[in-house]
Amino acid sequence: MHTADVVIIGGGIVGSSIAWHLTSAGCKNVLVLERESSQGKGSTGKSMGGVRAQFSTPVNIQLSLYSIPFYARFDEVLDHPSGYRPQGYLFLATQDSHLAYLRANFDRQKALGLQTVELLQSDDIRKMLPQLRSDDLLGGSFCSTDGFVDPYSVMTGFMARATEQGVTLWRSAEVTGISVDQNGVSGLETSRGPVTTRVIVNAAGAWAAHVAKLAGVNLPVEPLRRMLIPSEPFDDFPHSAPMVVDLSSGFHFRPEGRGFLLAWNDPEETTSFNTNFENSFIEKVLLHAADRVPVFDNLAINPKRCWAGLYEMSPDHHAILGSVPGVPGFFLANGFSGHGVMHSPATGKILADLILYGKTKVVDDISVLGFERFGKGELLHETAIL
Ligand SMILES: Cc1cc2nc3c(=O)[nH]c(=O)nc-3n(C[C@H](O)[C@H](O)[C@H](O)COP(=O)(O)OP(=O)(O)OC[C@H]3O[C@@H](n4cnc5c(N)ncnc54)[C@H](O)[C@@H]3O)c2cc1C
Repeated sequence: MHTADVVIIGGGIVGSSIAWHLTSAGCKNVLVLERESSQGKGSTGKSMGGVRAQFSTPVNIQLSLYSIPFYARFDEVLDHPSGYRPQGYLFLATQDSHLAYLRANFDRQKALGLQTVELLQSDDIRKMLPQLRSDDLLGGSFCSTDGFVDPYSVMTGFMARATEQGVTLWRSAEVTGISVDQNGVSGLETSRGPVTTRVIVNAAGAWAAHVAKLAGVNLPVEPLRRMLIPSEPFDDFPHSAPMVVDLSSGFHFRPEGRGFLLAWNDPEETTSFNTNFENSFIEKVLLHAADRVPVFDNLAINPKRCWAGLYEMSPDHHAILGSVPGVPGFFLANGFSGHGVMHSPATGKILADLILYGKTKVVDDISVLGFERFGKGELLHETAIL
């Protein structure tokens, strides 16, 4: 029978970060269970890789204030490329309500110590990206340390160093049962045999509710399809551009390779595990794209290169981090609602802190992300969901 001090269910970017942070803090006997034959087949390998500190709630801003500087040092600390490119995020406002929202966020971000964010006039935006249609722009905000990473490379970097530090990774190991006794979690059933442990971390992404159920916990995390459209090579828009977010439509895009990666969150999408890409989506997105970036009328798209993956939505679109009252030893790192790549460094540190010391300093008050908030009706409110 295999015995581990900590078992992490899920070998995506979140499970890998937790494994690295735990072993870096001295906890060596860690087992990661991944049901697929290789890592990255969940949401991590499908992500757009955007990282930003431009959030509206203090806790999301603080998760980014740990994570983005971490990405800036990642290559040096982990001796592995993160692909961090600080090309910024540019939010475009076309209504007074957008401006008020960006200004309030800016004040909150500054107060928490983010130095690289600025509010822009519409003329500043015209100078920055003259290719944008700007007749309706009222202003915007830009943060130069926001940008993109390579999620797959970050995940493999975390896991490579974690295994050198003592972590065991079992691939093709699906967790099918979790046992609980009077002292809390006591072990797991897996497709590769039973495991004994007193600490389990649920890092199962969009499948987290199934895993929680095995421990008798009703976790409100639901899968939601997101589709991405890469363009063919295109040189009539700068490849040094930031992630551009049009608040009027929700359309956003960033440079990717020699082309651009286009995204739009279809409000008609409903909860499901469907990850089929629908070709009709291309036309919907191209309408928004050409409306804001007239030269994108000439973008070429190969439908075969487009893909879909799953967001892991929580009821208030914030992560659910920490222990579960009533099930000692069962920890959650779930519900990132589309921000799990950018917040994986902070999540790894927080989970390691909570498991080893019972507290963390990464954010002022980690209890706001606790599972208990749903029972108490203390939900958070974040309006910028991308
Ligand atoms: C199209 C798209 C764009 C995105 N863009 C961004 C972005 O720009 N920025 C950002 O920060 N985030 C983005 N995200 C979200 C981000 O990809 C996720 O939040 C993140 O990858 C979650 O990581 P994870 O490790 O929790 O989950 P995953 O990568 O899904 O890993 C979970 C793992 O658990 C395994 N698993 C599940 N059940 C079991 C079981 N019973 N036993 C064993 N293993 C199990 C799965 O096989 C999987 O490998 C995007 C997501 C999508 C789909």
